[in-house]
Amino acid sequence: MDAENGYVPIYSKLTAEQKEKAKLMFLNYPSNPTTATIQINTLLEAVTFAKENNMLVVNDMAYDLVTFADYESPSILQVPHAKDRAIEFGSLSKSFNMTGWRIGYVVGNKDVIQALAALKSNIDTSQFLPIQKAAADALKSDFSHVKQHAAIFERRMEKLYQALHELGIRVDKPRGTIFLWAKVPNSYTSIAFTDKLLEEAGIVVTPGNAFGPSGEGYIRISLSVSEDRLDEVIRRLHLLDLKGEQAT
Ligand SMILES: *Cc1c(COP(=O)(O)O)cnc(C)c1O
Repeated sequence: MDAENGYVPIYSKLTAEQKEKAKLMFLNYPSNPTTATIQINTLLEAVTFAKENNMLVVNDMAYDLVTFADYESPSILQVPHAKDRAIEFGSLSKSFNMTGWRIGYVVGNKDVIQALAALKSNIDTSQFLPIQKAAADALKSDFSHVKQHAAIFERRMEKLYQALHELGIRVDKPRGTIFLWAKVPNSYTSIAFTDKLLEEAGIVVTPGNAFGPSGEGYIRISLSVSEDRLDEVIRRLHLLDLKGEQAT
């Protein structure tokens, strides 16, 4: 996958040997770190590819409810017969602001879930019961809090997106997640720009290459700070000379 095709899998790039050896395909949309989002056809293609090549598809939907405007993140289980080949993970970390509570869920193929349950029951002793009960209540709620949280992330995203745009930093407007995935200015590497932001402005971002070589040339900016901190970030960004300077 690459930025040009919206970070969806390019199956034609795989060799016969890679397809033969692979047992599992892991997808993550809305994506951390790229913020890529998809329509159902990407999942349909993934299930079809998995069937043809006898593999399992795992869809990591950690940001399924952290979406903006009228975008709705599709579930792989909307694909007909996906259950033959697919499971989907959800987490309460982002959508319900329960990061660190270590609680999520998995739905999909029965045999795979049974195997996972057998494995997991042998490596830990399950989650603290009050957390399980809180999570069950959260999932049975009307999700109004989830929508309020997503709206807060959307406001932060819009604010920072506009500011980056004005500063000449290239960034696509995400339809979900709690991140912006921005191009570093020309002549900087991910690390050089991350260092500059940290040392000259006291701003912490993650260099894109921390996620793999294809992330070079990008930074991931988290929206997990309040709007007034973002105002301060924007003020400091305007004080930096972003264009004139060359990276060393
Ligand atoms: C945050 C996140 C998760 C969920 O992690 P938890 O262990 O449930 O907190 C899963 N996948 C991605 C890509 C994430 O960013």
